[in-house]
Parts: sequence; C-alpha cells; structure tokens
Amino acid sequence: MRIERRIAAVSTGPLATPRTTGHRRMRRSAGPAGERARLGWGAMARKLFIAGAWTEGSSDETIDVRSPVTGEILAAVPVASERDVDEAVRAARAGQEALEIMTVFERAELLHRAAELMTSRKDELGRELTLEQGKPLHTEGIAEIEESAENFRIAAEDVKRMTTEVLPSEDRNKKMFTFRKANGVYAVITPWNFPFVIPSELLAPALAGGNACVLKPSELTPLIAARMIEILEEAGFPPGSVSLVNGGSDVGRALVTHPGVDAIAFVGSHETGEAIVRAAGLKRTLMELSGNGPVIVLDDANVEHAADMAVFGAQYVAGQCCVATERVLVSERVHDRFLERAVAAARDVVLGDPFAETTTMGPLNNEDVATKTDRHLAEARDRGVRVLAGGGRAEGFPTSLYYELTVADGVPTDSLLFREETFGPVVPVTTFATDEDALRLANDSHLGLQAAVFTSSLKRAFTFIDGLRTGNVVVNDTTDYWEALQPFGGASGTRTGWGRVGGKYAIEDMTDLRTAVVDFRNTAD
Ligand code: NAD
Repeated sequence: MRIERRIAAVSTGPLATPRTTGHRRMRRSAGPAGERARLGWGAMARKLFIAGAWTEGSSDETIDVRSPVTGEILAAVPVASERDVDEAVRAARAGQEALEIMTVFERAELLHRAAELMTSRKDELGRELTLEQGKPLHTEGIAEIEESAENFRIAAEDVKRMTTEVLPSEDRNKKMFTFRKANGVYAVITPWNFPFVIPSELLAPALAGGNACVLKPSELTPLIAARMIEILEEAGFPPGSVSLVNGGSDVGRALVTHPGVDAIAFVGSHETGEAIVRAAGLKRTLMELSGNGPVIVLDDANVEHAADMAVFGAQYVAGQCCVATERVLVSERVHDRFLERAVAAARDVVLGDPFAETTTMGPLNNEDVATKTDRHLAEARDRGVRVLAGGGRAEGFPTSLYYELTVADGVPTDSLLFREETFGPVVPVTTFATDEDALRLANDSHLGLQAAVFTSSLKRAFTFIDGLRTGNVVVNDTTDYWEALQPFGGASGTRTGWGRVGGKYAIEDMTDLRTAVVDFRNTAD
C-alpha cells in the first residue's frame, strides 16, 4: 500500500541511513543529461486531447516545458485556444452521457484497467515525472505513480459500495429514496508539485461518479499529465469523457467560466482558489488549497523522532507539499535537544541528482518557488533569525533550483516564514512555554490543512486533536502522512478551501444526492 511505501521511505531516511556530512553534489556524469534521449517524449504527450482525439489545437501559442533537473527544454506543448476549450467542454457533455448510462461496475472496470496500466509502466512514468518535476525517482517518483494507481483502484471499489437510503414517509402511499447522480462536466485544474497523483485524486472519483472531466494541468508539468490521459484513453473511457487542455491562468479561467462546465475541482494556491470561486459563481466547487503546517513538539515527546520527522517534512518533495513542515513549534524545555538533532538530520539529507539511488532531495521545481523561499529567508535573517543549517541555493548544479535543507531558529510569529506558506525545504523553529501557547500559536494562521503533534501523552494528544483548526491532525508522525482512503482537506474558517479528496469522500463530494418521492396510487397497474 502506498502509505507503507511512503513511511518506509521515511524510516530508511534520516533515522536509519548511515550519517554523511553536508550535501552531496550531483555527479555531472550522472543520469539526467541522458534521460531526455532515453525517454523520448511520445508525440501524444505534446498535444491536447479533445473529443477523443490528439490534436495540436487551433492556436499558434506553445509553452516550453523546462526540466528543473537539467535546465533543458523537454518539449513545447500547444496552448489551448478558447475554441479548443469550447470543443472540449461540448464533447464532455456527450462523454458524460456515455458514462451516465454505464453501471458503476462497468465504470469500475475501466478504472481498474487504468490502474493496471499505470502499475505496469511505473518505472518509465516515474522517470518522466522526475525529469519534469524534480523529485527523487527512487523514493518519490515511482511511488507517485503507484499512489495514483491506488487512487484509481480505491475509486473503483468505493463506488460499488456507495449505497443510499430508503426513508420512512409520513404517507403510507408513498416511498421515498435517495440515489447519487453525477454533477456533470468537471473542470479539473491541478498544480505542479504532484503532477500525476493530484490529477488521479480528482479524475478517479469524478469518473467513478459518472462525471466527464476536462483536465488543465499546471503549465509547468503538462507532459506527465498527458501520460495519464493516454492511459485513460487506452483503458477505454468513452470519447469526450476525459479531455486535456494545456495553458496557464487564461485557459483555466476560460474553463471555469464556460457555461457548459457544471463543477470545478481545483488543487492549488489559496490566491488562485479565491479567484476561481469568484469566477465560478454558483457552480459546484471542490477546493484543496495551501497549507501552513504546523509541527508541534511537546516537552514529553520523543524529541529525536520529532526532529527527524520535521526535517523529513522539509525534505520530502523539497518542501513543496501542501502538508510540508512549514512551522515548527517546539517547547522551550526541549528546544536545544530538538535543534541539535534537526541540524544533524539536515546534514544527512542528500541533495542532488534525483535519478541517483542515494539522493533524498532533488531540485525545486521552478524559479518562482525558489525566489519565494529566498525572500522568506532574507526577511528572517533581517529579523535576527539564526540559520543553523543550509540557508540558500546550492552551487555547482545544472540549474539554480537546488536548494539546501535549511534549519532556522527564533522565527518570529509575524515573519513571512511563520505566516505564509514557504513551499521550500525549510524547518522554521519557534518556541513556546505552555500547551495553551502552542495551541494558540498553531491556530494563529489563515490556513489550516494538516498538523502534526509529538507527545507521549494521550490526554495531551487529544487536547490538540480537538483544539487544532486543521482538517487533519497526525500524532507522532510527519505532517506528510496521509492515506488514499482518508478524507483530506482544509478546516472550515480557514483559507485552505472546502470539500474532501480521498476514497468515498471524494465521490460523495463529486456527486449529487437526488431524492425521489413516489406515490403509487395513481399508476396504471
Ligand atoms: P497555482 O494556484 O499557482 O496554480 C494551480 C493551477 O491553477 C495551475 O494549473 C494554474 O495554471 C491554474 N490557474 C492559475 N490561475 C488561474 C485562474 N485564474 N483560473 C483558473 N486556473 C488558474 O498553484 P501551484 O503553484 O501550481 O501549486 C502550489 C499550491 O498548491 C500550494 O499553495 C500548495 O499548498 C497547493 N496544494 C494544495 C494541495 C491540497 O491538497 N490542499 C495539494 C497540492 C498543492
């Protein structure tokens, strides 16, 4: 199961590997330069997929897709025009009707077939993902493909078991019951940090529920997303039921506002999420937006384990995860021990060629996220924050996106590091005196996705489970822990969004509950 793999990756990371000193540099002769030739993007991966056919689209505009690993341009993908978007949405209506008349068992069969295809190609797809996104192949790239297949399997199984109710009626001549209907045509808009798993988290439950989808992946990682569409086509989804349009915010806006789009499933930043909600009006929306930790370390915790997990949460996807280590609140009683271990664990992180087996952290994906991390660290330094490990971009790599795992201490609660989502490999430490202070500081955020609490007391753990304003709380493990079946999303009252992805919860979110009231007195029989 994907979680065991993920956790296996954690426990063989900072905890179990022999310690090394400092960041390792990428060997120049190592894989990436040869990867491009070896992978050879198929012609399909560079096109749009509309109405069941691969097409160049009707605009002349293209986007160059650049590898953060090597800096080379991997491919130029066509940008969809408004006409292309319109065609995809119209075809989706027909595709939705085709899905609607299928039984859930028939749809589940297609989802299982897609999962099998992903699993059988996981090594090749993992390599493509790593070259385009930057995450380490052996600990994260292949695992992302496996997790995506699992999302398709789970949607296939859950949809078969989604029963509804027959309700008691006040009138003995009536029967009242509910059943699920698809929401219709979905615009599915996704980010670059998990360019395969996030489309799978939305497409699998949407299709399981009988919705047609037009996917607009991030303009930074469209190639691996196209592979998912190829697989869905090969699995046999009806023409129009899944389409792919590429482009940036303009294409996203055109989709969101298209009158033929009934619902929007979006994963991305809270700024974009708010723009989408404003443009979407009364359309149904599923919003999975930014996070800001926190990791909370109480004085009775296994402090060394907590420090290892906090560092893991900054190393995993180089901190570019919605549930990454973003803020670390440490009891002043265990602060020194925590930092000693965190600095040692940071030194164990192997930054470098994401294709090498020993690498545990690859480059950041793009210049915007690197610049944001620079800005947050520069402000922290100006405010007197002590940088105890790392601190900036690493030299000597093919791109300037390789970033050192950074541990910062004395982070003020009004600094950018504390208040905003950094999305880089940083462990920003702030101390607290009492549990009440810790809870207040943890909830002092406009974002609320996932928190981790480290303690050996069940009583204290439950105080935080109850009191934290986050959609998910993990006790004694990394903030990066989640499972495919679990409902995953932001807490009410925060800007992290609404709705839940994961298992049956996503299918519920992406379908409508219809109620039928049948009076059987006036029927002919
Ligand atoms: P982003 O908001 O910049 O872009 C996400 C997608 O939205 C892209 O495909 C982009 O082209 C599109 N887009 C941009 N402007 C648009 C508009 N006006 N209308 C429609 N579409 C538009 O986010 P990003 O930088 O790609 O991703 C990083 C963010 O995603 C982080 O904040 C991270 O926390 C969040 N995220 C959240 C989750 C979650 O499950 N909550 C998971 C992964 C990432």
